[in-house]
Amino acid sequence: MAEKKKTGAEKLREKLFMQNKNGCTAAGEKTVAQADAFCEDYKKFLDSAKTEREAVKTAVRLAEKAGFVPYDPKKAYAPGDKVYVNNRGKAAIFAVIGKKPVEEGVRISAAHIDSPRLDLKPNPLYEDSELALFKTHYYGGIKKYQWTVIPLALHGVIVKKDGKKVEVSIGEDKDDPCFVVTDLLPHLATEQSKRTLAGGIKGEELNILVGSRPFKEDEGSELVKLNILNILNEKYGIKEEDFLSAELECVPAFKAQDLGFDRSMIAAYGHDDRVCAYPALRAALDVKDPDWTAVTILADKEEIGSEGNTGLQSKFFVYFINDLARSQGGEGYRALSHSQCLSADVNAAFDPTFPDVMEKRNAAQLNRGVVITKYTGSRGKSGTSDASAEYMGQIRALLDKNDVIWQTGELGKVDMGGGGTVAMYIANLDVDVVDLGVPVLSMHAPFEVVSKLDVFMAYRAMLEFYKDKAE
Ligand code: MN
Ligand code: MN
Repeated sequence: MAEKKKTGAEKLREKLFMQNKNGCTAAGEKTVAQADAFCEDYKKFLDSAKTEREAVKTAVRLAEKAGFVPYDPKKAYAPGDKVYVNNRGKAAIFAVIGKKPVEEGVRISAAHIDSPRLDLKPNPLYEDSELALFKTHYYGGIKKYQWTVIPLALHGVIVKKDGKKVEVSIGEDKDDPCFVVTDLLPHLATEQSKRTLAGGIKGEELNILVGSRPFKEDEGSELVKLNILNILNEKYGIKEEDFLSAELECVPAFKAQDLGFDRSMIAAYGHDDRVCAYPALRAALDVKDPDWTAVTILADKEEIGSEGNTGLQSKFFVYFINDLARSQGGEGYRALSHSQCLSADVNAAFDPTFPDVMEKRNAAQLNRGVVITKYTGSRGKSGTSDASAEYMGQIRALLDKNDVIWQTGELGKVDMGGGGTVAMYIANLDVDVVDLGVPVLSMHAPFEVVSKLDVFMAYRAMLEFYKDKAE
């Protein structure tokens, strides 16, 4: 049968309308297979990096294997040199020195490696009704009810009185015990069910069950708590007081897992923002002899406003640029003014079960590639840097030229809610910034969902950004 001739309207539509194709169809089988392979490594990263400390440790290990060495501010570096800065074991910078002087600007990808979770309170352990429990204070934006009745693992560090640091990771190996926040049975939840969804589980009800057997051969009070402390003392050499100088984080004990019959997606804890942090790290590891110095930042504390000395409101990144520029006889502030940044963070993916919160024409969708978010914020673009048309134009051209599949996304309908990223803190340094990342379903839940193709496209976007040639 002969091919039907296109009408004038069809031809004009092809020319003028925005193309809107599923990324898997557009990418083709070969690229989809590359995405699947890339995500095998990503899943391993997720499982070995559930906290910001573990993410830094894993990233440094991978970087050292690729030839990165600790940065020495007193040294001058040559193009192609690879260095890293480890900020207190909770944030890190990985840089590949470019051919152009740093004063002419660097290329930055900034992702965060902290995720919502339940932190133990400074004095966490107590006994009530012959059960031992931990008090927690949640970290980041969570829907509290989602954190009950799922297996939890305990990660973190305890600094003892003598200054010795003990590392803790319990609940990940299949022979390990796990922990849980209990919830009320439906039979007795008549009153609880009248609470709003937000108040269904209250902050002070996020108590973690950690033991139930009393210390044997003795009488007295708090024997279950005593027994737990005895176990912890035997295993880690700690006393109750040592909790005061600890950072212990309860995270879901699940492993990252393929999702769907077609295995097109990954379900895991903490995609936000390891799903951008890992591609940003891999781009730094894979870029060879860039024109501009390529700088990957893995920051902490984004989920609580980028505060603290490991968050991106702190000066640690600026100090690094200052040192780097000065080592070449340049000025850090000039380097920043000429720099460009991809704020690598996630956006919400359109969920057909909850369409009302999204404006469909401007929402990101799974499998449509890496999502560029011109602005975040809330209530009339408050709290966002809002990328310029010029910078959007440059990034758009770069991605198209290199066959990176991408889309734009807005974080929900106008006035529906909102959020922010590290973009504005970097923009405040006079850097050109736009948000670029991976669309996520069930963001901030204990088990988040991303598409493998989108993860790979995030990596490709950041790698091409680093590889970009000076005119
Ligand atoms: Mn994020
Ligand atoms: Mn987040």
